[in-house]
Amino acid sequence: MQSENTQQIKKTESKKYMIKVVVLGDINVGKTNIIRRLLGQEFEELEATVGVEFGYLEARDIDKEDKNVSLSIQLWDTSGAERYRSITTSHIRNADGALLVYDINNEMSFSALEFWYDCIKKSSSDDIVIYLIGNKSDLALEDRSLRKVSKESAIEFVKKNNLYHWTECSAKNNINIKDTFKSFYKSKYNNIIR
Ligand code: GDP
Ligand code: MG
Repeated sequence: MQSENTQQIKKTESKKYMIKVVVLGDINVGKTNIIRRLLGQEFEELEATVGVEFGYLEARDIDKEDKNVSLSIQLWDTSGAERYRSITTSHIRNADGALLVYDINNEMSFSALEFWYDCIKKSSSDDIVIYLIGNKSDLALEDRSLRKVSKESAIEFVKKNNLYHWTECSAKNNINIKDTFKSFYKSKYNNIIR
C-alpha cells in the first residue's frame, strides 16, 4: 500500500515542470509584443523594455489537450538596447530555450543576430534550443518592397548555426505566434510532456 502511494506522489511530481525561455534580439523588433501575444494579451505601442521583465505561461494556455500537465514556461523579455546588454546576457544563463527575433524589414536587426547568437553560445548550456523568428511579416505582406531580409538568408543562418527552426510571424496581426511556440516547446520537451 505504501509503495503504491509513493509511486503516485512521484507520478504527480514528475508532471510539474518549469522551463526558461529568453527572448533576444535588437530593440524595436517586436519582442515584447510577441510575448504579449503568447500571454494572450493585446498588441500595444509600448515604452521600450528596461532591463529584463518576466511573464509566465502555462502549457495548457497553448495546448488545451495537455490538461494534466503542469508545465510553466517562464518567458524572459529583454531590452536589446546597448546599455542593458550586460544585464541581458547575464540572464541567458540557465535558459532552456531562446527565441531569437529580428524584423524582416530591417537588415540591421538581422546582422545583429550574429551578436545575439554569440551571446547565447558564450553564456548558455550546449543543449539550449534556439528558435529564429522574423517578425513584422504584415508590413512586407502589404508592400513587398519593405522586405529587407529574404527567407533564404534566414534559412542559411539557421543551417549555419544549427538552430532548431525558423519562422516568420506578425505580432501585430497575431499570425504564426502561438503555433510557432507550440511546436517549439513540444519538440524539445516532448519526452517530459507526453
Ligand atoms: P521590442 O523593443 O523588441 O520589445 O519591440 P516592441 O514589441 O516594443 O515593438 C517595437 C515597435 O514595433 C512598436 O512600435 C510596435 O508597435 C511595432 N511592432 C511590433 N511587432 C510588430 C508587428 O508584428 N508588425 C508591425 N507592423 N509592427 C510591430
Ligand atoms: Mg521590449
